[in-house]
Amino acid sequence: MEPGPGPGSGPGSGPGSGPGSGPWAATACVITGASRGFGRSLARLLAPQLGPGSALVLLARSAEALAQLAAELRSGTTGINTGSDTGIHTGLRVQCVPADLGCPEGLRRAGDALRELLQDGTFGRLLLVNNAGSLGDISKSFLDLTDLEEINTYFSFNISSALCLTSSALRAFGARPGCSRTVVNISSLCALEPFPSWALYCSGKAARDMMFRVLAKEEPEIRVLSYAPGPLDTDMQLLARTSTADPGLRQQFQRMQEKGQLIECSVSAQKLLRLLQEDSFPSGAHVDFYDI
Ligand code: NAP
Repeated sequence: MEPGPGPGSGPGSGPGSGPGSGPWAATACVITGASRGFGRSLARLLAPQLGPGSALVLLARSAEALAQLAAELRSGTTGINTGSDTGIHTGLRVQCVPADLGCPEGLRRAGDALRELLQDGTFGRLLLVNNAGSLGDISKSFLDLTDLEEINTYFSFNISSALCLTSSALRAFGARPGCSRTVVNISSLCALEPFPSWALYCSGKAARDMMFRVLAKEEPEIRVLSYAPGPLDTDMQLLARTSTADPGLRQQFQRMQEKGQLIECSVSAQKLLRLLQEDSFPSGAHVDFYDI
């Protein structure tokens, strides 16, 4: 891996020069959807990068899965070869926030936890990764989507909660002189391309990309990235290839799996980490796994 900027030296002060070679000190890092799939992989890769005074917040509904991951990260036994000394976890606080971002009570609990943590003035960096997401009922086509409550529930989790959590976190952290703030939106090709029987997912991802582009325009000091991680070998993919109403799309996902074309979460998460380390993306950009 080629060297990148050292801590505090890049345009937006990205973290160290590569996995294990330069920890992000005093960083408050929040990952939603950290209990499994891409979010869990990212947490495993990111934890060894977080230096003294840092905190990692893991958010999802499954308290047990979060607790297991937190224990693993605290002990430094990530099970992934990041090339780093597992001893560098000293001082890393890992906090679990079990919360359902699809309901007001869960979102409130998540917001309260972030506000409490982020008002700590010793943090010099904020990294918020909006990763949690869902496909919605992809067994339905557009014309089947007649239930307003179902539609609102979907958008409430997949769009509104990301907006609410991000604005709350940024307000709580504030604009501290010399500090950096980075917000990542885990996006998808579906933000750009229509997929039949995925009306909710495609429109949700498109809306999120635009929402974060507005943030980038309004707040030039904040680094904003929409990262499309590619087709990942996760529960979400399993659902895609078994439940998609459109037969052509369903078969396409099945063929991808049969041909071994799905991407390991850790491979895609590593690319995201690299993007954050280099910190040279235009703020608000949509960057795809296959483009880098
Ligand atoms: P996944 O395996 O289904 O995991 C989703 C994560 O979100 C889980 O940790 C889940 O945890 C959490 N979550 C779901 N509903 C939640 C809720 N109501 N409140 C809080 N957390 C919730 O998905 P993935 O494949 O890792 O996808 C991660 C991100 O990548 C998503 O934004 C997805 O749209 C995007 N993406 C995925 C693919 C792909 O091929 N898989 C491709 C492009 C983009 P709990 O169940 O414990 O709550």
